[in-house]
Order: sequence, then structure tokens, then C-alpha cells
Amino acid sequence: MSMTLAIVGRPNVGKSTLFNRLVGKRLALVDDQPGVTRDLREGEARLGDLRFTVIDTAGLEDANDDSLQGRMRRLTERAVDMADVCLFMIDARVGVTPTDEIFADILRKRADHVILAANKGEGSAADAGVLEAFALGLGEPIRLSAEHGEGMNDLYTHLMPLA
Ligand code: GDP
Ligand code: MG
Repeated sequence: MSMTLAIVGRPNVGKSTLFNRLVGKRLALVDDQPGVTRDLREGEARLGDLRFTVIDTAGLEDANDDSLQGRMRRLTERAVDMADVCLFMIDARVGVTPTDEIFADILRKRADHVILAANKGEGSAADAGVLEAFALGLGEPIRLSAEHGEGMNDLYTHLMPLA
């Protein structure tokens, strides 16, 4: 049976950018389009010789402050339950935020395997955020740049034993 990877994390960290890179087709919407229904998006990913299913969690971007937390939790839990492995993404240029901590908590309680990714990792502006990510207690972060395709070899190394 083939592996399913869910990409989870708060809005704007770069989840859909990574999804698009893995799937190689424009299946995920990177920019907000009000009125477009989207929450979980599935595609067939290729990474080196690995083939797996990838789930992009979206649909949180239009939520107002009151509903964001509940929607975020429900959507993330659905994705986690569908997945064999979760890739939890933070924005290394911003560092760890209180919202990231909420995601980390959901994943610690619910996910079988978590791979931590510090995205937007290109350049020295990300150095501090990558270090902060260690403090989440989810292992060593992979330094990624979904936009520039950096760190994909590290991602491969983490996924290969699980695929
Ligand atoms: P999502 O809300 O988590 O799905 O995030 P998106 O994939 O829509 O990306 C949000 C923004 O971050 C977009 O403007 C992307 O171009 C940008 N972005 C994504 N990955 C990177 C990256 O590796 N480096 C930089 N600098 N920007 C990125
Ligand atoms: Mg997205």
C-alpha cells in the first residue's frame, strides 16, 4: 500500500508551494481566491524514485479570527487521520508562533510520524527560525525552500524509509 503524506501548518508557510512542487501540476491554489471551496487537496507526488499520495491542507485562509482555530483543528485532524506521515511546516523566516505551537500539539497527540520542515529556508534570514524549530520537540527540522527547491534531498531521506 502506498504512503500518504499530509502537509500541515498554519496559513502562508508554503504548504501549497511544496504540494505543487511534489505533484508537478497546478492542482493547489497558492493564492487566495475568495469563494473557491477548497480544504483538503490530494495529488500523486514524485520525489526521486518515490511515489506517494500527498494531501495539502488549505481552506483556512479565508476563516475569520473567531472560526479559524476550530476549523484549523478539524481540518488538520482530518488530514492527520488520512495520512501515514505528516509534514509539519513552519516559516523559518518568522520562527515559531503560538499558532505553530497549537499545530505541534495536535500532531504530538495524533500523528504516527511527523517530519518537521522549516520552510522559506533559503538565505541567512532563516537561520534563527530553523534553530527555534528544534524547541518544538518534534525532532530535527528539515531546512526547506519549497519555492527554490532546496532541501528536497533531505526530505527524500526522511520519506524513503516510510514509503
Ligand atoms: P500555504 O498557505 O501554507 O499553502 O502557503 P503558500 O504555498 O500559498 O505560500 C505562501 C507564500 O509564501 C507565497 O507567496 C509563496 O510564494 C511563499 N513561499 C512559499 N515557499 C517559499 C520559500 O521557500 N521561500 C520563500 N521566500 N517564499 C516562499
Ligand atoms: Mg495553501
